[in-house]
Amino acid sequence: MIADRMALLDSSGIRKVFDLAASMKDPINLSIGQPDFDVPDPVKDAAIEAIRRGRNRYTVTQGIPELHQALRKWLAAEKGLDPGALLITSGVSGALMLAFLVTVNPGDEVIIPDPYFVMYKHLVNLCGGKPVFVDTYPDFAVTAERLKPHLTRKTRLILLNSPANPTGAVIPQKELARIAALARENGALLVSDEIYDLFTYGEPVRSIGALYPNTLMLGGFSKSHAMTGWRVGYAAGPKEIVQEMTKLQQFSFVCAPSFAQFAALKTFETDTRCYRDDYRRKRDTIYDGLRRAGYQVQQPGGAFYIFPKVPWGSDHEFVAEAIRHELLIIPGSVFSEKATHARISYAASDETIARGLEVLRKLIEQGPPKK
Ligand code: PMP
Repeated sequence: MIADRMALLDSSGIRKVFDLAASMKDPINLSIGQPDFDVPDPVKDAAIEAIRRGRNRYTVTQGIPELHQALRKWLAAEKGLDPGALLITSGVSGALMLAFLVTVNPGDEVIIPDPYFVMYKHLVNLCGGKPVFVDTYPDFAVTAERLKPHLTRKTRLILLNSPANPTGAVIPQKELARIAALARENGALLVSDEIYDLFTYGEPVRSIGALYPNTLMLGGFSKSHAMTGWRVGYAAGPKEIVQEMTKLQQFSFVCAPSFAQFAALKTFETDTRCYRDDYRRKRDTIYDGLRRAGYQVQQPGGAFYIFPKVPWGSDHEFVAEAIRHELLIIPGSVFSEKATHARISYAASDETIARGLEVLRKLIEQGPPKK
């Protein structure tokens, strides 16, 4: 017997694409949500050394003190953030799960800008909360003005994700200040998922947590250092929330993987600007290529995704035709209440991006398949 709550989770959209992908020999894969580079060597060496030195046991639930210390220093310097408390988690996914479980009561409203990272709405549903989607089409700008009409007495928290998956949109510093003022007025908790922070291509943006103390800032090493399989992230924010999350982690995840916490220490000494510069260049290639081909598309300010409008048909019809041409991308409705766009990841080689653009040009030229 399966519990009723599982009926609230639907993974069919993305699964269909990956099932199709499994049957393809050499797909042009622009669907991947992780970097195409590998973990930097010094970080790998630190992981191996940690295992050799016997750092293989449980760590304290809140995470090793050395990583707390390094993170506090980094958060202050890079984001102007002095968090009340810190918890090292099993990726940002682990932090999100704990955060929702400790803050969302049945019936609570959670504001989610649409398009959104898939996990958000499922976790809110799992907690019995009500996702309230805020339409940010066509420019994907998350603004205080757009959020405001959706805030009610039942609003428990507002989710922000900048740079964003799947659009690459970045909330500018000025707008962060307006959103912080709005949250202060309403008293809502802000949850700020900043997992793509090192991939920001314009002006650097600080954390909204530096402007509004009732912010739970989430970050991690999965994207910045390609450590997706190692499962290390963190939550930084109000003491009473982080304390409850720590309590729940004790009875669920126990701790983030030990060797990976030690390896994460090394990331602060590793310069990742070359990766950011490479993705900025790829962002330009794909944005220019799509625009020239005639796609309606916004220039992403960060992350490694671009979210064009499909030129004909529904998102699923368009993606099915792309897959027939060996190109793997993801229908926008996986990340949205609308079915009008598609997510393209440019965390791929130049050659793959060029081949992908070739197919996308062909698809817009040929129009929908004749029935
Ligand atoms: N937040 C966003 C916006 C993401 O895109 C992802 C990964 N796709 C995560 C959180 C989860 O990352 P992880 O659990 O690997 O830290």
